Amino acid sequence: MTVLRKNLIDGEWLGEAGSRNINPSNTNDIVGEYASAGPEQAKQAIAAAKAAFPAWSRSGPLARHAVLKKTSDEIMARKDEIGRSLAREEGKTLAEGVGETIRAAQIFDFFAGETLRLSGEMVPSVRPGVGVEMTREGVGVVGIITPWNFPIAIPAWKVAPALAYGNTIVFKPAELVPESAWTIVDILHRAGLPKGVLNLVMGKGSVVGQAMLDNPDVNAISFTGSVSTGKRVAAASVEHMRKFQLEMGGKNPLVVLDDADLAVAVDCAVNGAYFSTGQRCTASSRLIVADGIHDRFVDAIKERLDKLVIGDALDAKTQIGPVVDQTQLKQDEDYIAIGRQEGAELAFGGDRLERGAPGFYLQPALFVGSTNAMRISREEIFGPVANVIRVKDYDEALAVANDTPFGLTSGICTTSLKHATHFKRNSEAGMVMVNLPTAGVDFHVPFGGRKGSSYGPREQGRYAMEFYTTVKTAYTFAG
Ligand code: ADP
Repeated sequence: MTVLRKNLIDGEWLGEAGSRNINPSNTNDIVGEYASAGPEQAKQAIAAAKAAFPAWSRSGPLARHAVLKKTSDEIMARKDEIGRSLAREEGKTLAEGVGETIRAAQIFDFFAGETLRLSGEMVPSVRPGVGVEMTREGVGVVGIITPWNFPIAIPAWKVAPALAYGNTIVFKPAELVPESAWTIVDILHRAGLPKGVLNLVMGKGSVVGQAMLDNPDVNAISFTGSVSTGKRVAAASVEHMRKFQLEMGGKNPLVVLDDADLAVAVDCAVNGAYFSTGQRCTASSRLIVADGIHDRFVDAIKERLDKLVIGDALDAKTQIGPVVDQTQLKQDEDYIAIGRQEGAELAFGGDRLERGAPGFYLQPALFVGSTNAMRISREEIFGPVANVIRVKDYDEALAVANDTPFGLTSGICTTSLKHATHFKRNSEAGMVMVNLPTAGVDFHVPFGGRKGSSYGPREQGRYAMEFYTTVKTAYTFAG
């Protein structure tokens, strides 16, 4: 028996059955049933958030601290149950699901602390007798639109700072992962948020998401998802003169130089390219490998891929779970076909796998002999697919790494301080990793990219304040 999960609008759980959520490890397993909001509910949610803003924005730090801290504590106490449910609905492994849940708890804890650390500045005016104060205030109603690949961490890293800095929220999670979204909203609601401060509108992006984009009462939108939807968010936001922040795709390079520690490089590549089924915007999809280590690196990766356990996300032995759904699986398989047509050599994997139950299982795929001009090197695949590009030296590696429309993360495996330092300075990415996978970031420091990957201020850590607040400069004449 599944319980119908409803939308939260103005403090009330509302809505009728709309959609079902399916476990990608076993499509016979229905995770739950969820109300599907339409444009009218989106409008009500926005109106409720607007009405709740004046009181919440003036509520003071203690009220916000209490809710965020309580939320963090409950998420942490229920990490195994929530992590399991996340793995069941998204298909990442149990360890990844629990790890992501812990991260969400840490994010709420961090922003609970931030409520008590809000500060401003005071300076003398250029005019004698006048003082100038610079303070930060909440922006207003924030629309939060999230993707399916981090069902709890991404909502957490948007919702927590939005609340901490005094904003009210209309939250629209991805259709594929409503359970994780509903769970954190339920926890926040029970933690004591006043009605209307946080509203949940589950439903279709083209309907409920679009209704948010088109509503002038939404003062800011934080979006993570595809480039095409990101552009719609941008266009609609410019139309309404609202603040917006976009996190979109990546085509992240991992450079492996001749002097790399081979074991470290293989760990970085396998983790970065294939863990979480390659469904991370920070995944290393281009492996840019110098001539002298190329063959040893490729052999070692193939050996590792052959040993990886691909299976049901809820099985504790599984290292790589299924692809999230049929549409994503088709996209992965299409790109594997495109890579072959373009002349890259499929050195490992790429086949569908049969497991006990019907699910979207795909063997991790590795291309060699690819160039940076191929579509598999330029377009985000978002699956367990990576390609090796052979280069002669560091200079060529850096040029290839930067030759991409994206700029989220980049990585280099080397034992040369000179090359590591040069790469950190010259890589055109928002986040650079040395002897670490391109994916896997801390929760207390800025997250974001350059070029086609991101737009607007950084997320996470103290830098999140840039987006979720607006600065006020006040002058006082005291004679
Ligand atoms: P993905 O390929 O990761 O599903 P999308 O950009 O399609 O990326 O989805 C990311 C989020 O954007 C989801 O919550 C989705 O429902 C939402 N979305 C999709 N289309 C629109 C739209 N037209 N307006 C607002 N949100 C949308």
